[in-house]
Amino acid sequence: MGNVPTTVKHCLSYDQLLRDYPWLKRWLLEEKTITDHEYPKYVKIVEVGPRDGLQNEKEIVPTGVKIQLIDMLSRTGLPVIEATSFVSSKWVPQMADHTDVLRGLHRAPRVQYPVLTPNMQGFQDAVAAGATEVAVFGSASETFSKKNINCSIDESMLRFEEVINAAKEQHIPVRGYVSCALGCPHEGHVEPSEVAKVATRLYEMGCYEISLGDTIGAGTPGSMVKMLQSVMKEVPVSALAVHCHDTYGQALPNILTALQMGVSVVDAAVAGLGGCPYAPGSSGNVSTEDVLYMLHGMGVETGVNLAQVIEAGDFICSALCRRTNSKVAQAQGRSL
Ligand SMILES: [Zn+2]
Repeated sequence: MGNVPTTVKHCLSYDQLLRDYPWLKRWLLEEKTITDHEYPKYVKIVEVGPRDGLQNEKEIVPTGVKIQLIDMLSRTGLPVIEATSFVSSKWVPQMADHTDVLRGLHRAPRVQYPVLTPNMQGFQDAVAAGATEVAVFGSASETFSKKNINCSIDESMLRFEEVINAAKEQHIPVRGYVSCALGCPHEGHVEPSEVAKVATRLYEMGCYEISLGDTIGAGTPGSMVKMLQSVMKEVPVSALAVHCHDTYGQALPNILTALQMGVSVVDAAVAGLGGCPYAPGSSGNVSTEDVLYMLHGMGVETGVNLAQVIEAGDFICSALCRRTNSKVAQAQGRSL
């Protein structure tokens, strides 16, 4: 009631107040609507820094550093840590050590370590290295699909179907990504119906969770609402995750919007690592620290220890000789 005139504060009754100041009724109701949003009580954070983040580093990060980062993150309470990618080292040299990383990390109880498997070769190598969960990476944009994974959306779906079927036989859960869900570096606007189409195909093929990626970080709460409305007509919200990049500083409001719509799984990267080599201008993933700070401030449980995530961020930032992208870590004086 900070800006309410003194005369209003002195009104004898609430009803009288509303009669005298009709505009106030609308204002109060609107305020109620904002504060009454149902947020999930628990949000699952999927840490993507070791894969999505480090994949975009130009200098090869030593395997030992990757393993130590994952081990530090494993002790924070994070339930899911995407560990590496079983993509051809010709395409992504940074992930050439995938087998050593997956074998070298110290698995914590109750933590999942999914790995990206773009095709059958990657899937077989991942399983041989001990993968217990995998992920496939599709696109809502035809041009991005061709430039990023070298095939059309339809062709990619055929590849994924093969991987998903093989995973089902071995009872290995598969997570699905849809990139360019809120815009494409080549095509610009992406129709929400196109995102829904790809998300539905991945879900129907058997992905247990679909992560909707704002690969270039161009989305706003407005485009997030439209996209989610479209996808939620086809895929249950309990099976959806959001994956936001912070290029335009919209990641947190976009995530908040998704939470208001019932999404309760959020991808994030420690220290805001990342970007996308195939999406010019895209900056890092939203930082795990900033997402945790927001959620904990809202009283939403994550089971994750923020201070320990900040420490893991310190570690990787000094290993990479760079400043953290996390505003929370910066605010606590954690920058080089
Ligand atoms: Zn990302």
